[in-house]
Amino acid sequence: MERIRDRYRSISFRGRLLLLLIAVSLVQASVAAYTFFDLQSKPAEQRVQAQLNAALRGVAPVIDTQLAAAGDRLRELHADPTLQAAIEREDWATVDGIVGGEDPATNVSDPLPGDVTTTDGFEPSESSAVQPLRGFVTDADGKVVAGTRPDGALIEQPGVTTSRLLRQSNLVATLHVPVAVDRAFLKQRIESYVPKGVDVFVADERTVMSTGADDAAPRPSGLREGLREVELGGSDQLVLAQPLLDGSVLVGASMPAKVAAAQKREGLSSLWGFIAVLALITLGVSWFITRAVGDALRKFADIARELAGGQLNRRIPVTGDDEIAVLSTSINDMAENLEDRIDSLVAARASMRRQVELFGEALANATEIDEMLQAVCSLAMESTSATHARFWTLDHEGHYEHAACIGLRPNDTEPCGLEKAVPIRNASVRGEGEPSWLVVPARMRDGQIVGLLTLVSTAAAFDEEDVKIAERIAVQAAVAIDNARMHEQLRLQATRDGLTGLPNHRSLQDELTKRLAEAYDSGMPLGVAMLDIDNFKRVNDTYGHPVGDEAIKAIGRTLAHGIGGMGMVGRYGGEEFVVIMPGCDADAAFRIADRLRQDITTIEVPLEDGGVLRVTSSFGVANVDQQHAGARVDNAELLHQADVGMYNSKRSGKNCVSLAGPDTVVIEMSDAEKAKLAARETGDTAAEMAAAASLEANPPAPYDPFDLAA
Ligand code: GH3
Ligand code: MG
Ligand code: MG
Repeated sequence: MERIRDRYRSISFRGRLLLLLIAVSLVQASVAAYTFFDLQSKPAEQRVQAQLNAALRGVAPVIDTQLAAAGDRLRELHADPTLQAAIEREDWATVDGIVGGEDPATNVSDPLPGDVTTTDGFEPSESSAVQPLRGFVTDADGKVVAGTRPDGALIEQPGVTTSRLLRQSNLVATLHVPVAVDRAFLKQRIESYVPKGVDVFVADERTVMSTGADDAAPRPSGLREGLREVELGGSDQLVLAQPLLDGSVLVGASMPAKVAAAQKREGLSSLWGFIAVLALITLGVSWFITRAVGDALRKFADIARELAGGQLNRRIPVTGDDEIAVLSTSINDMAENLEDRIDSLVAARASMRRQVELFGEALANATEIDEMLQAVCSLAMESTSATHARFWTLDHEGHYEHAACIGLRPNDTEPCGLEKAVPIRNASVRGEGEPSWLVVPARMRDGQIVGLLTLVSTAAAFDEEDVKIAERIAVQAAVAIDNARMHEQLRLQATRDGLTGLPNHRSLQDELTKRLAEAYDSGMPLGVAMLDIDNFKRVNDTYGHPVGDEAIKAIGRTLAHGIGGMGMVGRYGGEEFVVIMPGCDADAAFRIADRLRQDITTIEVPLEDGGVLRVTSSFGVANVDQQHAGARVDNAELLHQADVGMYNSKRSGKNCVSLAGPDTVVIEMSDAEKAKLAARETGDTAAEMAAAASLEANPPAPYDPFDLAA
C-alpha cells in the first residue's frame, strides 16, 4: 500500500491528473455502458418475444376454430343412437365404422375469424382445408377399442373433445374427437401464419409437433409455460409457450437460441463501438485538459521560478477568477511588494553609501576636529529626520565648546531652546514636544564623554530608530575626536620639548628659517638671542638634577611669558635657549634680551631645605638688518653670531647680554679655556671636566667688556 502510494506520488502532477481523468471517465463510461446495455438488451428481448407472440396469436384462432369443429363433431357422434347402441353392445366394429368413417367437416372452408389479425401481415389462405376430424373410442382402461388414434400431437379437453359413456355410473368407454396436430395440419393451417425464422409447435403430454420438423418428437421435460430456452428438435431453441385448454397442451413459438442471441448481440456490438468511441473521446479530452492545465501550471511555475530567482519584474498573466487566478494575483502582489521594498532598500543603501563616503572623505581630509564634526552633523541630518544639528566638544574639565552646526549659526539657540546648558547625561535624551529634539552623548570606549550631538526636528518627531542611528554616529564622532586629539598630542610631542613644553631645537630651526626668509623678503629686521644658564654644572652638582630640571622649566616659563606674542622662545639644547624676535633690530633685540635676563634673575626655585635657588644667565644677541646690509646669512651663521655674543657675555663675567655681528671677535681665551670649549664642542666630557678643573686651578684674567668696544 505504502509502495503504491509512493509510486503514485512519484508520478508528475500532469500524469496524476491524466490518470484521475481517465479513471473518472472510465467510471462514467461503465455506468453509461451498463445503462446502454440494459436499455439495449430489453428491446432486443422484446423484439424476439414480439416475434414469438405474433406467431402464437396467428395460431390460436386456427386452433380455436378447429376445437369448435371437433366439439360439434363430438356432439353429433354423441347424439347418434346407432353409435350409442353399438357401444352398449361393445360392438367395436360398428363403432369403428361410425367414428373412423367419413369426415363431414372435410373441405369446409375456414376463413380466419374477423377479430384475428396477424402482426406480420400474414394472410391465411382462404382455401386451406380443415383437418379431417376422426374420432376414436377408448375403453375404461384407456385402450383404443375403435377408430384410430391420429398421429401428431393431440389437443384434447374433457367435455369438449371427449365424452364419457357411462352405464349405471360405470365408465364403459370414452369417445374422442381430438384436434390432431400433425404434419399436414401444420402445413395447411398453421405455417402460413408463422413469420419467417419462427416455428410454431403444439405439444401434448407426450409429443411435440413443430412446423420446424417433419415428424412428431417426444416432449422435452423442460418445456413449460413461458419464455425459456429448451432443446427442441435436436437444437437449442428460445421458446414462448402458453397453455391451451386445461393446461396439458402447450402451444408455442420458437426460434433457434443462436438467432435470438445474435439479435441481442447486434445491439451489443454497437454498444462496444459506442464504448470504444467514448473511450477515445475520453482519452482525447483528458489529454487536452491535462495539457491545458499542465501548460497553465508550467507557465505559472516558470514565472514563479523566475520571480524566486530575483526577476521581480516578471508577472504571471491572470485570466478569469479561478483559484489559479487568485494564486497568480497573490504572487504578483507579493512580487510587486518585494520590488518596492528592494527599490527602497537600494535607495536607502545608496544614500547610506553616499553618507559613508562623505563621512569617510571628511575624516580623511579633516585636518581640524571641527571640519570632521561638520561631516558628523551632516551625516546625522541625512540619516535621521533632523532639521538642525550641532556638535559640542567637551574637554577634560567638562567645558563645552561649539564645534560644528547645520541649520543654525554658532551662537543661535536651538529652536526648542536647547543650549549648551543641556546637562551632560550618560544616556541619550529625547524631547517629545514640538519641535522634537534629541541629545546624544559622544562617548569613548572608556566611558568618557567627549562631545554632545544635539539634533532638532521641526518636521517629524524622532523615533527609536533615529536615536539608534544618532547614537551610532556619536560613537564614531567620539572615536574621531579621540583620534584627532591623540594626533594633536603626537604633533606637539614632535615639535615641543618634553621638559619645558617649549618648541624644541628642530622647531626653532624651522621657525628661524621661516622668519629669516620673511625678513629677507620684507626687508624687516630680525633679532635672535641665545642664552645659557650660568654655572649650571654646579647647580646640578650641589642640589641634584631634579632641582636643575626645575630651574630649566622655570626659566622656560619666564622666557615664554616674557616674549609673549612678540616672538618665539625654544629650548635649543641642555640649559640653552634661543629667542627669535621678528621685526627687532639690534637695539630692540638687545633690550628685550636684557629684560629677559633680568626676569630670570627674579626666579626662585624652591629647595628641599626651604631655601630658594636663584640663577643667572648669559645672552648673546645677533640680528639681520637690511639697513646695514651685509652678506645674506642662514640659520647656522646667525646662531653662530649669537653664540659668539653669548660666549663673550660669559667671558665678561656672565649674567649679561652681548651683541655680536659677523665681524665680532670671540674674546681671547686662555689655553685652558680653549681646551674646555673644544672638548665641549666635540662632546668629550672627560676632557671637558679636566679642562674645567685646570681652569679652576688657574682662573683666567677677568674679561673687560670695554675691550670689546675697542
Ligand atoms: P658656564 O657658566 O660656563 O655655563 O658654566 P656651566 O657650569 O653652566 O657650564 P656648562 O654650560 O658647560 O654646563 C652645562 C651643564 O648643564 C652640564 C649638565 O650637567 C647641565 N645640564 C645640561 N642639560 C641639563 C638638564 O636638562 N638638566 C639638568 N639638571 N642639567 C643639565
Ligand atoms: Mg651650557
Ligand atoms: Mg652654563
